[in-house]
Amino acid sequence: MSAPLFPFFADLRHRPVLVVGGGAAAERKTEALLRSGALPRVGAAALTAQLTAWAQAGRIEWLAGEFQESWLDDVWLAIAATDDVAVSQALNQAAETRRLLVNVAEDAELSSYREPVLVELGAVPKTAQAPGSVVLVGAGPGDPGLLTLNALRALNEADVILYDRLVSEKVLRLARRDAIRIEVGKSAQGHSIRQEDIHALMRDHARAGQRVVRLKGGDPFVFGRGGEELQFLHAHGIAYEVVPGITAAVACAAYAGIPLTHRDHAQSVRLITAHCKASLDTLDWPALARERQTLAFYMGVAELDTLRMRLTDEGCPASTPFALIENGSREEQRVVIGQLDDLPHTARHHGVHSPALLIVGEVAALAETLHWFGHAPLRAPSPYSDNLPVPTLSRAA
Ligand code: SAH
Repeated sequence: MSAPLFPFFADLRHRPVLVVGGGAAAERKTEALLRSGALPRVGAAALTAQLTAWAQAGRIEWLAGEFQESWLDDVWLAIAATDDVAVSQALNQAAETRRLLVNVAEDAELSSYREPVLVELGAVPKTAQAPGSVVLVGAGPGDPGLLTLNALRALNEADVILYDRLVSEKVLRLARRDAIRIEVGKSAQGHSIRQEDIHALMRDHARAGQRVVRLKGGDPFVFGRGGEELQFLHAHGIAYEVVPGITAAVACAAYAGIPLTHRDHAQSVRLITAHCKASLDTLDWPALARERQTLAFYMGVAELDTLRMRLTDEGCPASTPFALIENGSREEQRVVIGQLDDLPHTARHHGVHSPALLIVGEVAALAETLHWFGHAPLRAPSPYSDNLPVPTLSRAA
């Protein structure tokens, strides 16, 4: 195994750098060098049209002909972008002798330094640069790998981060070190901080000229009160942007091996809040009990008895598969599967707690075979396992 590489970013402005080769690969390297303000010297017998144009415009120096050691005079770095291996080897040798770093495209053995892959970010949140603004950012379900690049950038540029309880520690660790962090999460039992107070915090920090990131679990617009917060910002004339996140239903389904739709099982998906009895009463239960759909219930752990009862009362078969995903996408993820009839009992048996997402529908059963992350799904306990003595088998008659 090769030794670990030492990462660094070089300031090449006004410094000559040799590129050996005159084809498309050499053109790409030269373009990157020009962007960094370097002075490319391109050594080759012939050049692409673009390289020729740059040479004619005086933006690069063209060393015409076959490779020779003198091409390395005065350069800071050397790059081989030619498919002639003999030339790459000769360049590698000559550079070694002169103690110059050399990169040979596509050849780690002949390279004494390598170039990182640069990720060009797409739409850059404008407000993340502009002081006195708020970016509503979806932090996803917990695995920091599920953040978008725009979310990462906003976190890196934030002065103040107002974050919810559901935002994982691993995500917060990616934020700018000297950003002020304020937890504004509301716990299930107590209301630690009122929504109006969150609004006031956003407003006051933005008006003080700070770049505020309002960081929410999952997606800000899915059961996250993002809509209310945006209306508030709009009403107060505060600049804002929204960075979407991966919502719990999408993440939990993926990490449990449950396709939310499937041609054989479900043609639609519903995202439903099961927050409290009052909100459950206003749901259209006959519609929810219909076949060939997937139901994803958020915030439902405390209401599993009601959920099971309302669905079966409306004709949803007792055998309809369910999956409960606790701490989806996180190291501690647990998936509990079974049949609708056993749902409350099974969840209690395994001590499922919030945050957990409930998926009801035929697709839920696929977790049994398609699971890939963490432990295998847990099942319903046997009817005898809860405080009942296990019966001894009587001898077959
Ligand atoms: N805006 C969030 C949802 C907030 S409501 C989103 O888009 O995901 C909070 C509920 O989301 C929790 O009660 C739970 O049902 C679900 N949830 C959020 N993160 C979760 C996770 N990592 N695993 C399982 N459920 C999660």
